[in-house]
Amino acid sequence: MTDARPTVAVIGGGVAGLAVAWRLEHPAAAGTPVPAVTVIEAADRVGGNLRTEVDDEYRVEWGPNGFLDSEPATLELAKAAGLGDEILRSSDLARRRFLFVRGQLREIPTSPGRFLASDLFSLGAKLRICSELFVPGRRDLGLAATRPETDETVWQFGARRLGAEFADTMLDPMVRGITGGECRRVSLAAAFPRMVDLERDHGGLFKALVALGRQRRREKRAGGTGGPTGVLTSFRGGMTSLPDALARGLAGEVLTNHPVSDLEHSDDGWRIHCGDRVLGPFTAVVDTAPAHAAAGYHPDAEAREILGGIRYNPLVVIGVALRREDVGHPLDGFGMLTPSTEDRSLLGVLWTSSIWTDRAPDGTVLLRAMCGDASWLDLDDAEIMRRACAELDALYGLRGRPLRHWVFRHRRAIAEYEVGHLARLSALDQAVSRTPGLFLSGSSYRGIAVNACMKEAEPTAARVREHLTNLGGDRP
Ligand SMILES: Cc1cc2nc3c(=O)[nH]c(=O)nc-3n(C[C@H](O)[C@H](O)[C@H](O)COP(=O)(O)OP(=O)(O)OC[C@H]3O[C@@H](n4cnc5c(N)ncnc54)[C@H](O)[C@@H]3O)c2cc1C
Repeated sequence: MTDARPTVAVIGGGVAGLAVAWRLEHPAAAGTPVPAVTVIEAADRVGGNLRTEVDDEYRVEWGPNGFLDSEPATLELAKAAGLGDEILRSSDLARRRFLFVRGQLREIPTSPGRFLASDLFSLGAKLRICSELFVPGRRDLGLAATRPETDETVWQFGARRLGAEFADTMLDPMVRGITGGECRRVSLAAAFPRMVDLERDHGGLFKALVALGRQRRREKRAGGTGGPTGVLTSFRGGMTSLPDALARGLAGEVLTNHPVSDLEHSDDGWRIHCGDRVLGPFTAVVDTAPAHAAAGYHPDAEAREILGGIRYNPLVVIGVALRREDVGHPLDGFGMLTPSTEDRSLLGVLWTSSIWTDRAPDGTVLLRAMCGDASWLDLDDAEIMRRACAELDALYGLRGRPLRHWVFRHRRAIAEYEVGHLARLSALDQAVSRTPGLFLSGSSYRGIAVNACMKEAEPTAARVREHLTNLGGDRP
């Protein structure tokens, strides 16, 4: 018997693609028609950036270290995929975070008292930060998608509200740590829309903190959880558990080793070329491959140009295992980030074995360093390790040689949403509307984090369902 259901191809088997496929196969409303879904992935495995190297008792992440448990969609999908008992919360130590500033590790203060006592900022900067309360809110916030001249960089926002020293010391390393990018280029509205909402809704950040604190206390008194705080979370088997479980739970085919090279539309639907193989026709296609890949085969010329213009930053991730007694520093926290003013090659170092209790054998520590210098991509592993260990020695005082190491090169690691990104997405939406039945989704567009991809999956699936319904429901 032939399958008369509409067919949907999902290009890219990263978390974004797998989550869209899962949502299409598991609609929330009973009775919603389910299309036949095929996931088409270029690599020989699913997961994209989510990949955990298991080496004896070491678990080293290739990409994301974890996600915050404040996004319900991620936990919901993880549990639905059978990972309820695998969810692993980070240790309490992970709340202590450090910056390498003026040649020294300094803890980021988390309370007003600690902020006043901290030597992270000069006295002038502390006064300027406190005066944020009196900085008027901008009136033209939230318009970046239609009026690009109102968009501002993360640095501009920080300097305007909290002063240049705050922007250089806190925001610069934070943006480097999250995107491998440059806070003087990244659009606040595109990368951190919540900040725009806070300023617009409350007139300033301190005012927002006070209002949100009040709201949390009210919710707690009413028996709630006290609001979304967000604890860094992963899985016992590492981040790879999430895509592996999602892929296992799909009813449709998951084709690996199928790099899409062309997309073609005709009266009977979409045909997808993977080198010499042609798949389809499909009633609809959701493309979740990174924008730079989609730029190579998207059928609309204007869309190709916009997709190709989305910047990606390189990252080299270096895992280093050492005997505990060979590291001078107590590593009592999450790790550290370095502002660009410090002129160090490492963007930051995560103290992985302090964040997670089961990532390295007893008596050893596991560090995960990141370098954003593109020239490191072409060095051999030995030279990368020599340079990384020299930096780690300067930072933590190494007394012995690494027991093991891992080097992961990401030529195009994470999309950088440069200022003007939202306006470019509006133009992209226009261009994509000329190719009905072809949808774009994933971390290149409206959120770079795992949580953002998981959250976007349902609205994307809903748009696909609407398209299928408009075409006539059950038609193939
Ligand atoms: C080093 C690093 C650290 C990170 N740390 C964090 C973190 O701590 N927390 C967090 O939330 N996020 C983090 N991220 C971001 C996170 O990895 C992304 O949010 C997430 O992986 C994006 O998923 P995606 O499916 O959109 O893209 P990807 O993971 O890139 O998946 C896209 C998939 O498309 C496939 N593909 C590409 N071209 C084609 C083609 N032509 N045909 C078919 N398939 C194709 C790729 O092989 C890939 O599998 C990090 C990223 C990196 C690189």
